[in-house]
Amino acid sequence: MSKSFQAIKGTKDLLPVDTARWREFEAVIHDTMQQWGFGEIRTPIFEKTELFSRSVGEESDIVSKQMYTFIDQSDTSLTLRPELTAPTMRAYIQHNMDREGALTKLYYMDTLFRQERPQAGRLRQFNQFGAEAIGSPHPEQDAEVIVLACAILNKLGVANPTVLVNTVGSSESRERYRSELVNFLTPLKNELSETSQKRLKSNPLRILDTKDKKEVALLSDAPDILNCLNSEDLHHFEKVQGFLNELGIAHECSNKLVRGLDYYTRTTFEITSPDVGAQNALCGGGRYDELIEQLGGKPTPAVGFAAGIERIMLALGEKQDQTTEKVMVYIVTASESAVDSLFRLANKLRQNGISTSFDTLRRSVKAQMREANRLAATHAVIVGDEEIADSSAKVKNFKTGEQNTISMNDLVSHLKSL
Ligand code: AMP
Repeated sequence: MSKSFQAIKGTKDLLPVDTARWREFEAVIHDTMQQWGFGEIRTPIFEKTELFSRSVGEESDIVSKQMYTFIDQSDTSLTLRPELTAPTMRAYIQHNMDREGALTKLYYMDTLFRQERPQAGRLRQFNQFGAEAIGSPHPEQDAEVIVLACAILNKLGVANPTVLVNTVGSSESRERYRSELVNFLTPLKNELSETSQKRLKSNPLRILDTKDKKEVALLSDAPDILNCLNSEDLHHFEKVQGFLNELGIAHECSNKLVRGLDYYTRTTFEITSPDVGAQNALCGGGRYDELIEQLGGKPTPAVGFAAGIERIMLALGEKQDQTTEKVMVYIVTASESAVDSLFRLANKLRQNGISTSFDTLRRSVKAQMREANRLAATHAVIVGDEEIADSSAKVKNFKTGEQNTISMNDLVSHLKSL
């Protein structure tokens, strides 16, 4: 029979061999976020389309090309979330968390959808974790968020990350920069791609995002945003970098880092890895002081980041299965009459917190031993007619080959003491 159905391109099944690693990752992320005082938020998978078009920006690649949008039966345009900051802010406003003077620290770990051209590290359904610190306009908050991202990547085992930081300034500085950039690019207009020509009118800063080699070369002489910053913006940026220096977080200033989303103000940052090829960004974020107001909340400054889990896994490469030190039992029996007691025994071990498997195919002892090996069991508990008769079991340590007979009454405490 042919296999008629395959997972959609750019989506992935996670099989039991994969999910163990996912759970390890997820545990590190949850633990660290909570240690740092961030509380978890989970929002629905779909939202009104307008939430994304208004926040991320009509011109962004996400909104203009990548959203999975559909009209539901009541003629409402809905979109599978392509990012998580806007839904988090929607929830923040909806649940009246925007109280004056409050500092709200939220984190998420969830699935997103973008209709991208699939390739290594670029999927259509993928997972991000991220943090949003809402309420503080001060540079120490930007620094805390960047350091948190670094701390998690470090705990997950990412070696050699590069932290890139920039500032896109407040609206005032950005306006000045925008006009300098337009003055610089207008005489070069004919050398720009069609998209960049359009952006020259609508959103010239986005041209700095280009991956086109010719445009990148043209932009090497472009004006530097740092020269257009007002003194508050410059001070903010210097303070953020000062905090990073103080903590020994190596970083580079990357004055073209505007990031593809429209809502950033002041700090933007990205963490990249040399180990993932073309899609080298593991994490991206920045400050977005105007977004909450744009979405109908009270004016509230905020800063956050999002990191892609699949991409981090790619950066880390295939990790060899770690041999767990935890006891994992496989019950082996040679006797059909032992099946009932074996079933009861498995239940008792599990109730006592001992990982336990046994065969329900009634295979040979040899096949059961092979299966135990395949499952990476640490010990076999062997129960045959003889053991049932004297109420005992043989416990075999797979690593050392050592085998002992243990009375049934002592089995749980024996296994727990290993
Ligand atoms: P963004 O939301 O575009 O700022 O992306 C933040 C992070 O999410 C990136 O640094 C990647 O690690 C990850 N990411 C973004 N798009 C994809 C994708 N299509 N597939 C897998 N990971 C992605």
